[in-house]
Amino acid sequence: MSTTSTEKRQTTLQQLAEHPLDLLVIGGGIVGAGVARDAAMRGLRTGLVDAHDFAAGTSSRSSRLLHGGLRYLEQGRVGLVHESSVEKKVVHAIAPHLGQPLGFIFPVYKVNGRPMWQMRIGVKMYDLLCNGRNFKPSRGYTKEETLVKLPQINTAGLRGSVRYYDALTSDARLTLDTLRSAVKNGALVSNYTRFADATRAAGAWACQIEDTLAGQKITARARAILNAAGPWSEAIPHSAVKLRLTKGIHIVVDRKRVTVAEDEAVTMVEGKRILFLIPWGERLIIGTTDTDYDADPADVAVGLDDIDYVLHTANTTFPAARLTRDDIISSWAGVRPLIANRDGTPSDTSRAHQIKNPAEGWWDIAGGKLTTYRLMAEQAVTKIAKYLGAPAVPCRTAKEPLLPPAETAPYSGIIPPPVTAEAVRHYVGHEWAVHLDDVLMRRSSWHFYHGDTPARAPEIAQWMSAAAGWTPERTAAELANYTKEAAKTYPSSKTP
Ligand SMILES: Cc1cc2nc3c(=O)[nH]c(=O)nc-3n(C[C@H](O)[C@H](O)[C@H](O)COP(=O)(O)OP(=O)(O)OC[C@H]3O[C@@H](n4cnc5c(N)ncnc54)[C@H](O)[C@@H]3O)c2cc1C
Repeated sequence: MSTTSTEKRQTTLQQLAEHPLDLLVIGGGIVGAGVARDAAMRGLRTGLVDAHDFAAGTSSRSSRLLHGGLRYLEQGRVGLVHESSVEKKVVHAIAPHLGQPLGFIFPVYKVNGRPMWQMRIGVKMYDLLCNGRNFKPSRGYTKEETLVKLPQINTAGLRGSVRYYDALTSDARLTLDTLRSAVKNGALVSNYTRFADATRAAGAWACQIEDTLAGQKITARARAILNAAGPWSEAIPHSAVKLRLTKGIHIVVDRKRVTVAEDEAVTMVEGKRILFLIPWGERLIIGTTDTDYDADPADVAVGLDDIDYVLHTANTTFPAARLTRDDIISSWAGVRPLIANRDGTPSDTSRAHQIKNPAEGWWDIAGGKLTTYRLMAEQAVTKIAKYLGAPAVPCRTAKEPLLPPAETAPYSGIIPPPVTAEAVRHYVGHEWAVHLDDVLMRRSSWHFYHGDTPARAPEIAQWMSAAAGWTPERTAAELANYTKEAAKTYPSSKTP
C-alpha cells in the first residue's frame, strides 16, 4: 500500500481501538454497508470490519438486478414482492448511476406455461406492487411482435410474450458507494479486518479484531454488535443464525451471440425455475442456478455441470444461438445466505430477511436480497438505536442520495470502461483496494467483462505496484493470488 493509504488504514484501526463505538458491524457486504451508512447518518458512532475485501462475499456475485421478483408473485408472496418492488425504485432514486431500468421479455408457451391473459394480469399486478408505478408500464406482445424483438427465439408452441420492468445494477459498486457514503457520515470501516470473538462486560462488548494484512490484533469496545456476515453469519461466535446456503452461477458471453435489444433482458423458464439473459453493455449475463451448498463459502467455484445447465437453458430458448463453453468470456459463483428451511427445493426457500436479538447488545441480520438491503438496514438500525437509547433520529437513507462516483474513477456505474493507471491510483488511495483482485474483480468488474483481463493483469499489477508501493516479490505474489481467484471462475485456462 502507498504511504497515504497505509496511514489512512492505520488511523482507522487506531480509532477503532481507542474510541468506544455505539455499534460494530461485522461484514462489509451490501447489508453491513447499508447498516453502517444508516447508523452513521442517525448519529451512532459506527465501525465496520470485513475479514476479506468489501463485497468479496455474495455482494459481488449476484445477478446484479434490483427486482421485485416476478416468480414470487406466482408463489403468492405478495408482501415480499411489494417490499422489493418499492425498494428497487428507492435504490434507483438514491443512486441513479447504479440502477438502470431494464425491460424483461417473458415468452409465453403453450406447454408448461400460463395463458397469455394470466401473464398480462400478472405483470400488471407487478406494476401495481411498485406503489402503483413501475419504471415503465408492462405490456403484452403477439407472437409476431415477439419474433421481431427476439428473432432467434424458440417458436415451438410460442403464444406471444409480456414485458415488465426491473433494473440492472452493479452489486459491488453499490456496496462500495454505500460504504463511501457511510464514511462521509463518520463511520469507520476497514477491510481485511476479521472479527474473531467478543466478551461482554460493564454494558459493552470487548471485540477482538485482527488486521489480517499486518497480523496485528486490536480490541474495540462497542455497546452493540450487528452480525451481517452473510453466508458466514452462522459461524460467527454468539450468532443465533441458521442458514440454508445455496449456490448460483452466471456466465458472460458476447451480446452479439444472441439477438436481443441492449435494454431488454429475457426471462427463460426451465422446469419450475426462471433464468435470465441480461444485456450488460456489449455482453450478456446468463444465469442463474440454485443448488444446496454445504462447503466453505470462500471456496465456491463455477462447475462444468452448472455451466452446462445454464447453456442448455439458453439454447432451449434460443436454439439458433448454439452457445457452447467456448463462448464463455467469464463467469462467477456465489452463495445465497437464505434463512434455514430444509423443506422444498432451494428455489422455494424464502428470500425474506430476519433480524434477531439473541443476547444483550447482540443482533444478527440474515437472508434478504441485494434489492432490500436498505430496508433491512433501516429496520435493524431502528431496533439498535432504541436499545442504545439514542435520540429518535428518523431514517433518511431512502431520500438522501448515495455519494456519486468520483471523477477520477472512470468505472462509475454498471458497465466497466477500461481500467487505467489513474483509476488504479484512485482505487488504492480512496476506495480501500489492497490486492490486485480487489481492483480487477470488485472496484472495476473488469475481470468479468473482458476475456483479455488475465493477459492484461501483469500491466495492471505494475500500475498497482506503483500506486501501492509494492516490491517485485509482492507484485508476483499478487499475480499468483489473482490467478488462484480467477481459477474459481471459467474459463480458468485463460488465466496467466
Ligand atoms: C447467484 C446469486 C444471484 C443473486 N441475485 C440477486 C439479484 O439479482 N438481486 C438481488 O436483490 N439479490 C440477489 N442475490 C442475493 C444477494 O446477492 C445477497 O442477498 C446479498 O449480496 C447478501 O449480502 P450480505 O451483505 O448479507 O452478504 P455478503 O455480501 O456475503 O457479505 C458478508 C461479508 O461478511 C464478511 N465476513 C465473514 N466473516 C467475517 C468475520 N469473521 N469478520 C468480519 N467480516 C466477516 C465476508 O468477508 C463478507 O464480505 C443473489 C445471490 C446469489 C448467490
